[in-house]
Parts: sequence; C-alpha cells; structure tokens
Amino acid sequence: MSARPAGAPRFDLPEIDGFTHPYWDAAARGHLLIRRCADCGLAHHYPREFCPRCWSESVGWERASGRATLYTWSVVHRNDLPPFGARVPYIAAVVELAEGPRMMTELVGCTGQDLRVGMELRVDFRTLAEDAPDVDALPEGAPDVDALAKDSPAKDSPVQDAPAVPVFRPAP
Ligand SMILES: [Zn+2]
Repeated sequence: MSARPAGAPRFDLPEIDGFTHPYWDAAARGHLLIRRCADCGLAHHYPREFCPRCWSESVGWERASGRATLYTWSVVHRNDLPPFGARVPYIAAVVELAEGPRMMTELVGCTGQDLRVGMELRVDFRTLAEDAPDVDALPEGAPDVDALAKDSPAKDSPVQDAPAVPVFRPAP
C-alpha cells in the first residue's frame, strides 16, 4: 500500500495507555466510546478520568451511537508530518456527537464542497496498520460483549496489531 520504509516515523498513531485502552480496543472493533458521569449525567470527550463539569470520579465508558452533526471544518492542503502529507487534501473537522460532546476528527467520503454546518454524519474507522483492512462501524445497537467488559484482559485485544481511529462520513 505504501512505499514508506518500515519503522519510519509517523504521527497518526495513538498513544495507548491503561486508561485509554478500552477506547482504542473498542475502536478497533468498530465502536466509538465516550465517557459519562454517573453523578451529573454529563457525557464528555476526549476521555478523562474525572468529570470535567463536576469533578466526580464516577465516570464510566459508554458506547456512543456514532451519530453526529458537523460543527466546523477545515480543508487541509499541506501537512508535512508523515503520513498526513500523502493524504492531502483532507478535511479536519469538529463534530457534535448525538450524545453532546464535540470531537475533533477527519471527514471521509466527501469533499469540501459537500459540506454544510449541521449536516448528519456517521462514525467510521480507519485502521492504521499497514495493509490492514478498515474496520466497519458496527450498527447502532449491535451486541458487543467485549468492548465494555470491565475486566477484559488486553491479551486478545485487536488494538495491539491494528489500531483504528474514528473518522466520520456523511450519513447515508
Ligand atoms: Zn459530572
């Protein structure tokens, strides 16, 4: 797929730690996770260990619907950091998730001319590993026994081999 030599630096890989592992694990399975506070009810993104509104620690993972609307965007024509340079022009965007939080992401399957504020979007996933197929977003309500299992061990996690990042495309 790419002539980039193995081991060359790239700047699109997530830094996965113990706290964010469930998020990336779910993404590699086709689910977008958000965090929700059990005390005040606020959903937030990016994931934090404390609620950004009330500072409660009673915050847990929740599977997002994957529905969002377009808040703002910018068409990027130049980015010298690999592998972004090979993708220009691409659309960097902020989307508003149906659950409320706004999220920085990339839009795919459209051009700048297609876009308008408020348009309906759906999550999709881009696999970052070389030659790995992209992950299909699972339909809303699809059963998922793995991503939210609190004590699920990381050893069978797909994310180690093929991390995936959420992107959004126009709703069908
Ligand atoms: Zn809260």
